[in-house]
Amino acid sequence: MTVHPLLNVAATHVGTRALGPGVRSVVWVQGCPFHCPECLAPEWIPDRPARQAGPAELAAELLADPRVTGLTLSGGEPMRQAAGLAELVRHAREIRDVSVISFTGYRRERLLARPPSQGVPDLLAVVDVLIDGLYVAGLNDGRGLRGSTNQRIHHLSPRLEDSGYDFANRARDAEIAVNGPETLLIGVAPRGLGAVFETAVDKVRASMRGADTSSPSPGEEGRP
Ligand code: SF4
Repeated sequence: MTVHPLLNVAATHVGTRALGPGVRSVVWVQGCPFHCPECLAPEWIPDRPARQAGPAELAAELLADPRVTGLTLSGGEPMRQAAGLAELVRHAREIRDVSVISFTGYRRERLLARPPSQGVPDLLAVVDVLIDGLYVAGLNDGRGLRGSTNQRIHHLSPRLEDSGYDFANRARDAEIAVNGPETLLIGVAPRGLGAVFETAVDKVRASMRGADTSSPSPGEEGRP
């Protein structure tokens, strides 16, 4: 009997236009072996338990919005949870034939030669666009879906090649999602937006605490 692994999920978002062509849903996994200086999601680096989600359950949740035509996998490091993510994509495509974009800090050559987890070949087989390489803040040119110019765009299938979406050079989009006390900055943020966002959230939280000292503390803030 095959045992399907649970995913350790830092955050999800259903329905964004900031992380690839069309309307997409996003999964950010918890845990990353890299420590890129100025990583925009440092709270998702620790390999600690977060939300434990079954791939089938998560697929249904992410595709609940009928406008969603794609999934984007980010983190954290997706290739450390490749088996669960491959299973997620398999379930999602039983619901709708979604395109799949995955970020990874590993270079593609390393993934092929020495996969860092068991399901990497299965995941690469269902990913349409792989954006590989570590984030290098000094090479962040403020453009494209990749965070820095050393990162590469690999079309592993032809599905999004003629989509007209310029993965490498397009002007960046970012969206801010607010869910109660939690805020989420979605997208590869234009340079400087992360710091502005942090400052704005801190100010709002401070004013909320000042207005109602009996309120519970705001929850964790997620930020890709
Ligand atoms: S690979 Fe991505 S998530 Fe991991 S430390 Fe680098 S920028 Fe952060």
